[in-house]
Amino acid sequence: MAADAPKIYTGKCLCGDVTFTAQDMSDIWYCHCTQCQHLTGLYIAAAGVERDKLTIKGDVNWLPISDRSRSGHCNSCGSYLFWDMPSRPTVSVLAGNIDNTKGLKVKGHIFVSEKPDYYEITDGLPQYETYPEGALRT
Ligand SMILES: [Zn+2]
Ligand SMILES: [Zn+2]
Repeated sequence: MAADAPKIYTGKCLCGDVTFTAQDMSDIWYCHCTQCQHLTGLYIAAAGVERDKLTIKGDVNWLPISDRSRSGHCNSCGSYLFWDMPSRPTVSVLAGNIDNTKGLKVKGHIFVSEKPDYYEITDGLPQYETYPEGALRT
């Protein structure tokens, strides 16, 4: 994390009923796992934020994905906003809901082992079969 002042990000769902503020978001992972495929139709782009640095307003519908993780969707428009494993210190914010992603970069691709065959990854960023040791599972 850079030593400069905290960077504040804001975001919202498609209809605007749910808004959030996140401080000091990490860079973005693309996740190609089967969970993400089911939830979105393909892979996701998500940034991580420490739980106590994320403020959510509005009616979020938390749905269980597994016995350890859940997804957060706007209760009005269904936008997929958050991926959360409550045992972890960070929450993943789906990047498409962030208002201003300026300054965020992409770190690479995770769960490439679960990627379907009909697309290739050609951007040259690092790829991981699962995810690198110590990284957020986002
Ligand atoms: Zn909405
Ligand atoms: Zn995934």
